[in-house]
Amino acid sequence: MEKILEVNDLHVTFTTYGGTVKAVRGVNFYLNKGETLAIVGESGCGKSVTSNAIMRLIPDPPGKISRGTITFKGKQLTDVTEKEMRSIRGVDISMIFQDPMTALNPTLTIGTQLMEGLREHHKTSSAEAKEKAIEMMELVGIPNPEERFKQYPHQFSGGMRQRIVIAIALICEPELLIADEPTTALDVTIQAQILELFDRIQTQTGVSIILITHDLGVVAKIADRIAVMYAGKIIESGTRREIFYHAEHPYTKGLLQSVPRLDMKGEKLIPIDGTPPDLFSPPQGCPFTARCPMAMEVCNKVYPVETEVSDTHKVDCWLQDDRAKQLLAETADQT
Ligand code: SF4
Ligand code: MG
Repeated sequence: MEKILEVNDLHVTFTTYGGTVKAVRGVNFYLNKGETLAIVGESGCGKSVTSNAIMRLIPDPPGKISRGTITFKGKQLTDVTEKEMRSIRGVDISMIFQDPMTALNPTLTIGTQLMEGLREHHKTSSAEAKEKAIEMMELVGIPNPEERFKQYPHQFSGGMRQRIVIAIALICEPELLIADEPTTALDVTIQAQILELFDRIQTQTGVSIILITHDLGVVAKIADRIAVMYAGKIIESGTRREIFYHAEHPYTKGLLQSVPRLDMKGEKLIPIDGTPPDLFSPPQGCPFTARCPMAMEVCNKVYPVETEVSDTHKVDCWLQDDRAKQLLAETADQT
C-alpha cells in the first residue's frame, strides 16, 4: 500500500508566560492512500495540534514544531516555504473544522464560496467553476443544487452547511482531507449522515481521510485504523478491529467503556476518573500512571517501550513488556 503521509517524532511546543507547554511529544503515524485514520483522545491531548502541524497552521510564536518530520507524498512539509504551503493547503490537503457556521462567510452565496478555491488555485472559467460547484453539491447530497447555488449560508440547516463545507474542502480534489471534530456540533441523526457521506465520498473519490475526534463511537463505523492519543503521545494504534476488540492499553479500554454501545443492555458507562497530566511539566514515565488501575512502580519512572502486538497494532504500556511482567510476577510471589 502506498503511504501518502508519514509523521515521525513530531514535537510541538507553545511558549507562554507560565512556561513551555509540550503539546505534542514525539508522535509517529502514517496514512495509506485511500484510508481513514481516526485520531482519538480527550480535549487537550494534542490531536488538533497534530493536525494543525500537518497543515503548518501552528502560530509561531507562540507555537513551534520543535522536532520531527511530516512527509506528504515524499515532500517534507516541515521544510517548505509558507508560499509553497499555501499552494498545498486546500489543493492537495484540505481541512474542515467543527463549526460549519464559522467556516462559511455569511455575506457570500454558497456558489461564490464553492468557486473561490477553484478560481484561486486553478485558472478555471466561471462557467467551468459553476459546473464543478454544482457537481460537488450533488456529490455531498444537496437537493436542487442549481437553485441553492445562489443562496446564503443562513438559508441552510446545520447539517446542510456542514455538507457545503465538505464540498468546498473537496472541490480542488485534494488527496488528503483532515476533519477536526466534523460532527461534534451536529445532532446524532445528522452526525450519522455526515459520517456516511465521508464513507461514500471516499469510495467515489479515493481521498485519504484523517478524522480527529474525542468520541470513539463516531469512528466505530468509518475508521480503517485508529490512533489513541493521551498527553501529547499516541499510546495505542491499530486497525479498527484491534482497537475495538483487542485494546491493550488501560486508557483505550477506559475510553471503550465510556462509549455507549447498542449491545449494552443495562451495563453502565464507566467514565475514567481523574484528569490528564499538566503538559507544562509532563511526567517522565507513563502519563496515565495517576489514573491507571494497573499502574506499577516502573510506570511512574520510565516511559514504556512501544510493544508491537501485531504489524498494525502498537501499544505503549509496561503491561505488554515481558520485563515488567516478570517484575509483576516477582511482586505477586512475595504476597
Ligand atoms: Fe498503566 Fe503502567 Fe501501562 Fe501506563 S504503563 S498504562 S501506568 S500499566
Ligand atoms: Mg480539538
